Amino acid sequence: MKPIYFNIPAPLLIVMDDVGWWSGEDSHLSNEPFRTGISRNHCVNDYTAIAELAKMTGTRIQAGFVLCEWDRENILRNVPSSTWMGGDWDNSKHQGPWLDEAADVIIKNRPHIEIALHAIGHEYWKHPGPFSRAEWADMDGVMRPASDIVAHTEAFRKIMEQNSLGDFPTSFVPSAFKHCFGAEENGITPILKSYGINFISNPFDATVWEKAPEDPAFGIDGGIPFVNRGRGLISWKVIDASPEGIYWDGPICGLHWPNILNPVPEENSLTVECWADYLNKNYVRSKDRVMAKDSIDCWTQLLCSKKLPISLTDSAAVLDFSKLNAGRYPYLGKTFRIKTDFEISLPLNPSVLSVKKHGLLLFEYEIGIGSELENLTIRF
Ligand SMILES: [Zn+2]
Repeated sequence: MKPIYFNIPAPLLIVMDDVGWWSGEDSHLSNEPFRTGISRNHCVNDYTAIAELAKMTGTRIQAGFVLCEWDRENILRNVPSSTWMGGDWDNSKHQGPWLDEAADVIIKNRPHIEIALHAIGHEYWKHPGPFSRAEWADMDGVMRPASDIVAHTEAFRKIMEQNSLGDFPTSFVPSAFKHCFGAEENGITPILKSYGINFISNPFDATVWEKAPEDPAFGIDGGIPFVNRGRGLISWKVIDASPEGIYWDGPICGLHWPNILNPVPEENSLTVECWADYLNKNYVRSKDRVMAKDSIDCWTQLLCSKKLPISLTDSAAVLDFSKLNAGRYPYLGKTFRIKTDFEISLPLNPSVLSVKKHGLLLFEYEIGIGSELENLTIRF
């Protein structure tokens, strides 16, 4: 008997920008960066909040970090375009025990927080003079000089090292969403690739297009998966935001750090619980959606939900892998998930994790990509 429901659900990955500021002051009117605008300093609790939300929704949140205020050795004096102080950069007021404490939370919660490359100072300074937007590219998507891109990226790596924050990121979120897709050798992707970046997300309506993407939800930019963040449904300025009445129909839930924080840090958990309830109700328990476990899972599940056609009969489902094979898409993971209301027996000896969840069966299947598998038949 045919199942009533059999589907490869579309993923949702939380990408949260502007994590890493210690000052919460938005000082862009006085030539300092657009920070988070929360009316207090950030604190260790604000990092715990990210980890808690990730744990409660079974995901690894991609946190786009801004790292200038983590600089323990004032190395950014040597990268004057990265901060408002230029060659006089002095970060002493943000150097204190909270750096170790927050680093500890981030490292202990590595399965729940992914550090993504977002910015050093977020904007681009020419001294003397006001900053222009943004750090990696200008308003037309034209990349900053390659030497600056490399210097900023190196500074990000060194500041991570100063703070023992782990390996260099594999994901990139352009600051202020200034990015040109398809710029190839004239763009930022060759540099990002040399640093191991394998995932970029940006709102497609903010992207400058040198060529068209393959799909409204994704493209491949210089060999790197490029995923549509969609429209900003919640402003970066909203502190303690409510998700009720909002729905992210694309693969990315694009947020900014203060959206899930409370003006009173000790009450962050109230805001986080509200977000977790919303995400569990609308995505974890939904038939046609699933929370991405991490960035690669988001990419893989997205491709499978779009490029893995299913033929459903009374006795079987046949999944056609031909569009995914032959290395057509880079950096795919090994598993994807199926949601169905039916007990199924999987062939080919897969690593089956069948979990009964909220009345739906969630199967995880080891993908046949890269093998010669063309079809997968699942019998009911
Ligand atoms: Zn940002």
